[in-house]
Amino acid sequence: MSKVCPKCGARESAEKPFIGSFCGDCYAETRPLASLPKSVLVRRCPKCNRARLGGEWVEASDEDAVVRALRSPHSIVSTEAKIDVEGKRARVRAIVEVEGQNVSTAESTRFEAQRKQCEECALRSGGYHEAIIQLRGDGSEAANKKIESLARNLARRIERDSFLSGVKEQKFGLDLLAGRKRAAVDALKALDLDFTTEYKLLGVTRDGRRAVRATMLVRL
Ligand SMILES: [Zn+2]
Ligand SMILES: [Zn+2]
Repeated sequence: MSKVCPKCGARESAEKPFIGSFCGDCYAETRPLASLPKSVLVRRCPKCNRARLGGEWVEASDEDAVVRALRSPHSIVSTEAKIDVEGKRARVRAIVEVEGQNVSTAESTRFEAQRKQCEECALRSGGYHEAIIQLRGDGSEAANKKIESLARNLARRIERDSFLSGVKEQKFGLDLLAGRKRAAVDALKALDLDFTTEYKLLGVTRDGRRAVRATMLVRL
């Protein structure tokens, strides 16, 4: 015997699937299967292409951003998002598990994309650097070669967590200008390099913090 919905009287069928003892429509009316906010705004940095999500700049597509905004009282089994940038609409099809059953639902919302440079890219383009790594040798060709390969390796590691705002050639080696000091120290430690650190006070920021620049010297 097929079920009859106690709310609307519909009979269970292939076209009218039930959730628990209610027909799908009546169930969804009392408790939405999933919902999206009235609009989703995605700020994306035009330089590094990262998006601002949950207070952080992360690598994520517009679709990821919309899916992250989807809320459901049930566990979400799968999602598929489609964005119509021109029409400023986003649509998410989701399958949620309700009382042991997989039920599909579709939600749509207003979508807006905005371009905004992230803080790191703004600092990078302004030449900001908290640390200078000085790689120094004896000026010989062998030492210069070693310094170049070391610089490439360090640069790659620094770029992963922060950014490099410049590389300067010096008489006995190279200077790497690193955005974040933390990233510079981590890179030096990862390569097991011995270094000495000196600090230079640049001034005091408007909110009273001391602005210092660290110079780390590596002698080969
Ligand atoms: Zn019903
Ligand atoms: Zn950026």
